[in-house]
Amino acid sequence: MTDGARPATAPGPPPREAATHCPYCALQCGMTLREENDRVAVLPRQFPTNRGGLCQKGWTAAELLDHPDRLTSPLLRDPASGELRPATWDAALDRVAEGIRGVQSGHGRDAVAVFGGGGLTNEKAYALGKFARVALRTRHIDYNGRFCMSSAAAAGMRAFGVDRGLPFPLSDLGRADTLLLVGANPAETMPPLVRWLTEQRQRGGKLIVVDPRVTATARLADLHLQPLPGTDLAVASALLHIAVTEGLVDKDYIAARTTGFEEVRRAVAAWWPARAEALSGVPVADLEATARALGTGERVVILTARGAEQHAKGVDTVTGYVNLALALGLPGRPGSGYGCLTGQGNGQGGREHGQKADQLPGYRRIDDPAARAHVAGVWGVPADDLPGPGVPAYRLLDSLGTPDGPKALLVFGSNPVVSAPRATRIEGRLRDLDLLVVADFLLSETAALADVVLPTAQWAEEDGTMTNLEGRVLRRRALREPPPGVRTDLAILADLTARLAQVQGRDPSQSPGVNKGPFLPAEPAAVFAELRRASAGGIADYAGITWERIDTHDGAYWPCPDPDGPDTPRLFAERFPTPDGRARFHAVEHRPAAEEVSAAYPLHFTTGRVLAQYQSGTQTRRVPALNRAAPEAFVELHPDLAGRLGVTDGEPVRVVSRRGEMVAPARLSTAIRPDTVFAPFHWGGAARANSVTNDAVDPVSGMPEFKICAVRVERVETP
Ligand code: SF4
Repeated sequence: MTDGARPATAPGPPPREAATHCPYCALQCGMTLREENDRVAVLPRQFPTNRGGLCQKGWTAAELLDHPDRLTSPLLRDPASGELRPATWDAALDRVAEGIRGVQSGHGRDAVAVFGGGGLTNEKAYALGKFARVALRTRHIDYNGRFCMSSAAAAGMRAFGVDRGLPFPLSDLGRADTLLLVGANPAETMPPLVRWLTEQRQRGGKLIVVDPRVTATARLADLHLQPLPGTDLAVASALLHIAVTEGLVDKDYIAARTTGFEEVRRAVAAWWPARAEALSGVPVADLEATARALGTGERVVILTARGAEQHAKGVDTVTGYVNLALALGLPGRPGSGYGCLTGQGNGQGGREHGQKADQLPGYRRIDDPAARAHVAGVWGVPADDLPGPGVPAYRLLDSLGTPDGPKALLVFGSNPVVSAPRATRIEGRLRDLDLLVVADFLLSETAALADVVLPTAQWAEEDGTMTNLEGRVLRRRALREPPPGVRTDLAILADLTARLAQVQGRDPSQSPGVNKGPFLPAEPAAVFAELRRASAGGIADYAGITWERIDTHDGAYWPCPDPDGPDTPRLFAERFPTPDGRARFHAVEHRPAAEEVSAAYPLHFTTGRVLAQYQSGTQTRRVPALNRAAPEAFVELHPDLAGRLGVTDGEPVRVVSRRGEMVAPARLSTAIRPDTVFAPFHWGGAARANSVTNDAVDPVSGMPEFKICAVRVERVETP
């Protein structure tokens, strides 16, 4: 040390950083992870969708990386004690491979099923689909996204010939003259999105929210329509009825760009506003004000989300709003359109690359001979070897362990014990399996039932791509290696494929098909390169998207067929991707909920999310700050209803349906209709809302009716 000088600090290595995105919802907020002194900090990052904003879930996401509950060793169920015990990877994967071989040799290939998740990266969703179709050769694969966006996806496909949540950038919301949100509560589910709503209103735009509850988003609205749960389609029909009778529809657009309007016009003629008011409770004056705001604005956006979609008539309900948007000439008009607010982190990409029962990569149909030939060519197998379509998620889960259903299930990135409807029954089905394998990084309620648990890497420990709610493909970048004892999902699938080859007597280093080389690479970059080839020419064409392109721009929107050509931020400017280039109207008709209220079950029950928790809560319930903010489930009741039942705020109540019951403290609120009760679905055990929900499903999408069933509420006698 020199006189008077401060001691020189030795320059240490610069902190490790990764510019990535939040692991949770489909907004995929940009964030930077920085590792300093063994701690990972989350820093907000400017990205076009979140513009530096994060919600509490994003801020605290890194707390799970070193969480004490983290699984760092495979677990095998000990037949003697029935307990899950740590095991080596070799023992665990051998057990899985042997179990699969035993089940398939006894019951056929379809006796093994795979269940994926809308949070998996594109690479994993793709690899899972390929693993099921080529390594297992089972038709049984589906995923929890079926419980999330499938109704909007099906409605979009049949109207527009494509399913991309938002067919325009999110920034269009900020410039909309009129924005209609149906069954969407972004103020709680995607708080940074509210910046766009604020901007929209500051510019003088009108925000209209349709929701049975006075949600945080509804409180921001200029107009809140509060229909009875299950009547959103009647509201849509009445809005179109008013638009027709008041001459607000765009006749030139209808003539030039659509087919099928006449039938829809005849169908909505019967939905005069007073009829819709009688059914939904929404005043005629509010219906008229809404139709006029939609019909007279220049830039008009209509968005649906789970409130409208999670019904046994979800596809038709979304179609009602798509019909409205088409009649007003919105899709393809600059700054206007219809869109769906996707929920799960990779809800969009997860439904494009093959983990759906009826789908091959690139949003191709598995029953399309040309699609089968293309994908089989990329995979190096005969097209005839690919299995046919499986069944949607709930049907698959409900068939597990039954005489004709699968006897083994592999679960990746999902927790159906909490998230499936009629969950008590599904939990029983899982218990009936000969083999349940769960890959996860925490012991979820589903993993706790498993015969084999495989500990997986977290989002900050692996590279990959995600596709956000705009159809924009993003880079997920690893900050650090997974901890010792943990493997990535891709590595697990690659290893399992090799072991299956071994037990089947094939060369484990080679593809099951005619292509030489490993069947499933464990490196995400190699999987993405293959995904690009497999998706080429499909609806969701990623062929022109490279990781480098994503890095140098703020992502890339599909379809993007050519590495040197443009991507597609906005769809439908000139034509729709249908055979004749036109969008298709479909006449749809309101029908009652699958289960109506009765003397024994006189109340409507609806479920949803709260700000500080995410999906089945496996992750967020373990983050202290989130747990403090939302520590437990609750049952929201109107004070008038609570008064009739003799229930006070905070007192435990039992919600009973024909299928099961849940118990949680009552939360009294005037935000809910007196004929309806609400509970969030993030908790398991006695507070599991999905013990109560109805497993009736939409006939087109397979979406269960999470948003409405009939219940009674009882006081819980406490000693
Ligand atoms: S809004 Fe969604 S993506 Fe953004 S920080 Fe919150 S959970 Fe993460």
